Amino acid sequence: MTLPLQVSRILRHGSTVHGGSEVVTWTGTPGASRRASYAEIGRDAARLANALRDDLGVTGDQRVATLMWNNAEHLTTYLAVPSMGAVLHTLNLRLFPDQIAYIANHAEDRVVIVSDTLIPLLAKVLPHLSTVEHVVVVGEGPAELDGVRVHRWNELLAGREDTFDWPDVDENDAAALCYTSGTTGNPKGVAYSHRSIYLHSMQVCAAETFGLTPSTRELCIVPMFHAMAWGLPYAAFMSGASLVMTERFLQAEPIAQMIATEKPNLAGAVPTIFTDLLRYLDANPTDTSSLKEVIIGGSVCPPALMHALSERHGIEVIHAWGMTETSPLGSVARAPGNLSQDEQWAYRYTQGRVPASVEARIVGPAGDVMPTDGEAVGELEVRGPWITGRYIGDDDGADPEKFRDGWLRTGDVGKLTAEGYITLTDRAKDVIKSGGEWISSLELENHLMEHPSVAEACVVAVPDEKWGERPLATVVVAEGQTVTAADLKEFLAGRVAKWQLPERWAFIEAVPKTSVGKFNKKELQSGYAKGDLT
Ligand code: ADP
Repeated sequence: MTLPLQVSRILRHGSTVHGGSEVVTWTGTPGASRRASYAEIGRDAARLANALRDDLGVTGDQRVATLMWNNAEHLTTYLAVPSMGAVLHTLNLRLFPDQIAYIANHAEDRVVIVSDTLIPLLAKVLPHLSTVEHVVVVGEGPAELDGVRVHRWNELLAGREDTFDWPDVDENDAAALCYTSGTTGNPKGVAYSHRSIYLHSMQVCAAETFGLTPSTRELCIVPMFHAMAWGLPYAAFMSGASLVMTERFLQAEPIAQMIATEKPNLAGAVPTIFTDLLRYLDANPTDTSSLKEVIIGGSVCPPALMHALSERHGIEVIHAWGMTETSPLGSVARAPGNLSQDEQWAYRYTQGRVPASVEARIVGPAGDVMPTDGEAVGELEVRGPWITGRYIGDDDGADPEKFRDGWLRTGDVGKLTAEGYITLTDRAKDVIKSGGEWISSLELENHLMEHPSVAEACVVAVPDEKWGERPLATVVVAEGQTVTAADLKEFLAGRVAKWQLPERWAFIEAVPKTSVGKFNKKELQSGYAKGDLT
């Protein structure tokens, strides 16, 4: 049968078959979490769709944006908006107001649903929005903001029908939009179709990737505005996995409290979140025994962090790679079967193995496809049913910098084995080109973070008269420790070739982070250029 793959199918299935699974929203106080069953979320999704259509006049593929933390209402919106045939657009609340305005105007958002704590941010953006006609606030808010009518979520949903005749949308229609955080140039938008979300969700549930089942309790730390929270909300609804949502409480202490109180057995976030959590748990023993596995991706997960979480807290890291452009599941680092624990590590350090439906290749500078021997280094290219074929507003695959012969050029540099394992050495723009040779900033960072006195290390390319570029190693020293550049250089000497050893070092308080919590290399480079880092 050729039934279309639609988000409404995920909604219907989750809210009936898994109606007893729950979404828990943290409120800041242990024991005071808000709880809603998937059956209730299903009814709220119908109420929201009725309100959006009848009161706010949302029709066709109009865009409904969210400026929200991870919570039950965001989950409801994730499900309701695409299911009614409209298009969900998740706005990144950590961007500057002018970037948010650019993105919302580019997507022609008509409605914005906002968490009340973010109203001050929206107030700065709203005067620059040309298409927004309605604001819906979750929580308390004014009746009007900059001439735009403000509706309260609870009032808007109250008394509505809790069923909706979900339309039979074309599976290739857009269901959701997400913009890259635009570390270079203006953010670029990607549209996910119903089909792509459906297939991606099935893969996120698969045992070879994140293995979601009805007995999973997933602590969803990765923001729902960052690459669709890695597809975890949809996959949870599909599989019946319960969700624990962080709201705005993203620091190590409340996350540790969430783990101790709500007992998730799986969590997902970028490495920096877990670096902080590790530091907190080491200093403040907390019951994290429920948490068996964490998915770490978005940036490289240093092997030292994997070992520390495993050995000191019994938490196993599943390393994963992806991009906004890849929905984002691209590869997951689970070891092949029949290996001892020790033998598994080499596979677990990699960015992982591509699942069925994602094809990967490594391409050299002249466009030549390189061997899958785990050694040849080039740009990683991928294709598959949940990989984008174009950016919003562009012609199909028209930009040769981004697409080649139907493949997405990821801008990541690395190698690939015949078994499908990817090892990244850098982003193309972060590679350190030293006298015609490439130095991997990720490799240097991973080794530096193996040193017990190093809390964080970020390595960037800086101009050098003789070599063109050389590495600058910036280091955050672990609390209560001391270490010198000479010590670290000696430590690295046994691990990388001599010519790769950085001669420039800077000891800093904290590595600056991007809007999605990744190391902000650009900021370090401009700090160095201004003479701030010596
Ligand atoms: P942004 O471009 O704003 O950072 P994305 O989350 O889409 O937003 O970034 C995707 C990029 O993040 C990838 O192209 C890659 O460079 C990096 N990345 C993601 N996961 C990993 C990983 N496990 N190891 C190394 N880099 C990663």
